[in-house]
Amino acid sequence: MQVQKPEWQYVDDHFEEFVSELREAVKRPSIAAQNIGMDECAQYFKGLMEKHGIEARIIPTAGYPVVYGEVKGKDPNKTVLFYDHYDVQPPDPLDEWESDPFAGEVRDGKMYGRGVSDNKGNACARIQAVGALLKLRGELPVNVKFLIEGEEEIGSTHLSDFIRDNKDLLKADYGVWESGYMSPDGRPGMYLGVKGILYVELEAQGPSRDMHSGSAATVPNPAWRLVWALSTIKNEKEEILIPGFYDAVLSPTEREMELIRASMESREGEGGGNAASAPRRQYGVHSPLADLSPLDLRIRSLFGPTANICGFRSGYLGEGQKTVLPAKALVKMDFRLVPEQDPDDIYQKLRKHLDKNGFDDVKTRIITVDYPVKTSADHPVVKAAEEAALAVYGKPASIAPTQGGSGPMHPFKEYLNLPMVAFGVGYWGSGNHGPNENIRLEDYRKGIKMAMEFIDRL
Ligand SMILES: [Zn+2]
Repeated sequence: MQVQKPEWQYVDDHFEEFVSELREAVKRPSIAAQNIGMDECAQYFKGLMEKHGIEARIIPTAGYPVVYGEVKGKDPNKTVLFYDHYDVQPPDPLDEWESDPFAGEVRDGKMYGRGVSDNKGNACARIQAVGALLKLRGELPVNVKFLIEGEEEIGSTHLSDFIRDNKDLLKADYGVWESGYMSPDGRPGMYLGVKGILYVELEAQGPSRDMHSGSAATVPNPAWRLVWALSTIKNEKEEILIPGFYDAVLSPTEREMELIRASMESREGEGGGNAASAPRRQYGVHSPLADLSPLDLRIRSLFGPTANICGFRSGYLGEGQKTVLPAKALVKMDFRLVPEQDPDDIYQKLRKHLDKNGFDDVKTRIITVDYPVKTSADHPVVKAAEEAALAVYGKPASIAPTQGGSGPMHPFKEYLNLPMVAFGVGYWGSGNHGPNENIRLEDYRKGIKMAMEFIDRL
């Protein structure tokens, strides 16, 4: 029989206890959007940290409080900061759950519950990893800090101010982002960045009230105004036509290309020819995207900015017909942005572009902005995570240089200049935000070991 490392043995010996600590976290709802159970859950995480030898406190913000934790390490000059959140999404639709979303029921080696993957499993695993190292050795190799916020699921409203106001407290050299997911071939998935976003509303005004459509011969229609304006923003080749839109876009580095190719290999293992035929099935034959290779699509999804129409509202959309000339037309758009695009700059360019094309009557309004962020794939924090993953999972990590979605990573870069790597205890079937959210307990066990190995390798 192979002799285990004492660190891993400790996790195995205490695993049941760790799982029940996670279940206790899941049992405290902490639904930020509905202000349910927030304080109780923050208190629970403070208590859990203290139980594991981490000095913890609750720091108020203008919104829900942050749970902060800290342990001094042997090397005072190296600090790792773990970012997590204790709030969760509402559990609806309730009747689609097979067990109480706040019970943390275990079935077939999986724990089910709202927030078990997003993000309580990760928060608990990291706290337990630190606790285990402290129990075994009495000290950590480096300083460890925890920032567990309570507003991630409602847009991290006060996170940026909190980081700006607590720069010294949060100062660190390495950062770990909240989550990561196992891929179907058993490789731990990691990512190193997020896209930015510019969310805007475009509005065209027609007559002061809805009119009989017989007047369309003489009265301009605001829906057409918007359609014409939109058609100047993107063409049928999927090219965004706002002058200067692509100016700041960085192309992938050689190392990033290596990572993408390596992650594609793992994808091909998922289902034979699927990878090649999926885009065609997914997009249909009418899109130029259907002709792109899987590699090009992957590059596009990670490094390509978008101009997406989220919703279009005007006139009558009910049953049957109503012959009307609408008074107003409204569109919501999101532009997903990539490094080094600046959402405010892109907004200015959009406005200028509309004006120049004669659409100065089309009103624009910013709803939200967030900046794209990416950690260099060559940074030592990535190496440490890669090596730790190989040791724990016995397979190389699948690393995405960034991801298609956005997230509140920017203040960590702006105020702390923190390089960040994302890994965690979720898997491809975790179903975050949906019914029956779950994690596999074996991933949880490995996730604790992964955090320990990572800390040791910094
Ligand atoms: Zn979430």
